[in-house]
Amino acid sequence: MKFNIITIFPEIFDSYFSESIIKRAQKRGLIKIKTHNLRDCTNDKHKSVDDKPYGGGPGMVMMVEPIFKAISALKKFEIRNPKSETNLKSKFSKSKTRVILFSPKGKKFDQAMAKRFSKLDNLIMICGRYEGVDERVAKYIADEEVSIGDYVLTGGEIPAMIVVDAVTRLIPGVIAKESLNEESFSFKKEKALANENYEYPQYTRPEVFLPAGRHGGKWSVPKVLLSGDHKKIEEWRKIS
Ligand code: SAM
Repeated sequence: MKFNIITIFPEIFDSYFSESIIKRAQKRGLIKIKTHNLRDCTNDKHKSVDDKPYGGGPGMVMMVEPIFKAISALKKFEIRNPKSETNLKSKFSKSKTRVILFSPKGKKFDQAMAKRFSKLDNLIMICGRYEGVDERVAKYIADEEVSIGDYVLTGGEIPAMIVVDAVTRLIPGVIAKESLNEESFSFKKEKALANENYEYPQYTRPEVFLPAGRHGGKWSVPKVLLSGDHKKIEEWRKIS
C-alpha cells in the first residue's frame, strides 16, 4: 500500500517514519510512504500556498491551485500505469485510491475507518495549515474529510502520522495476526455494545514492584496470571 502525503513541512515525518514497525514495514516492502512538498506545486518565486480569505477574517487560507496540481500529478502518475490506459476514469477508481483532506469538521477517524483504508492501494492525504483550506478542495478534490478528534491542531501532519500508523498495523504481514485479533477495537459489534471493546490489562516483570518512597506498599501482578491455568486466565481476561 502507498501513502502519499501532501504537506508544506515534509521533514516533520522523517523521524517518526524511520523507527520501529513503520520502518520495518517499509523495508519489507509492505508499505511505501512518500511526502510531497506542496511548495513544489507553485508558480511564483515566493512559492506561495496561501492567501487572504474572501469576505475578510483572520489568518490565511491554503489555495486550491497548488493542491489541485499536487493531486493531478499523483493521479497522472497512476494513469500512466499501462494497466490503466484503456478507460482512465473507471480504471482509476478501480485502483482503490482515496484522497482525504484533514479537517476538524471531517468524519472522526476510528478503527473501522483504519480498516477500510487498509484495503486501499493508495491513500493520498492533504495536510492543511493556517486557518484551513479553500473549501473547493473538500468539494471537488477530496473524497472525504477526516478529523482525528474534537480539538484544533496546528496542521494536518500529526493526523497523517496517526492515520499511517493505525492503517499500517492492519496491513497483512506487518503485525502478527494473533496480536491483532486481541487488540482493542478489534472485537465484534456485540462486544463493542457491551462495552468490552478494549484489550484486557497487561502485566510484565517484576511480579511485585516496590515503588520507591512508599514504605510497605507493593504493586503486585494478579495471581491468576502466574497460575499457569490458561482457562482461568482467559476467563479473568474476559471480565477485566
Ligand atoms: N480554522 C480551522 C477551524 O477552526 O476548524 C482550523 C485550522 S487548523 C489550525 C489547520 C489545519 O490543521 C486544518 O486545515 C487541518 O488540516 C488540520 N487539523 C487541525 N485540527 C485537526 C483535527 N482535529 N483533525 C484533522 N485535522 C486537523
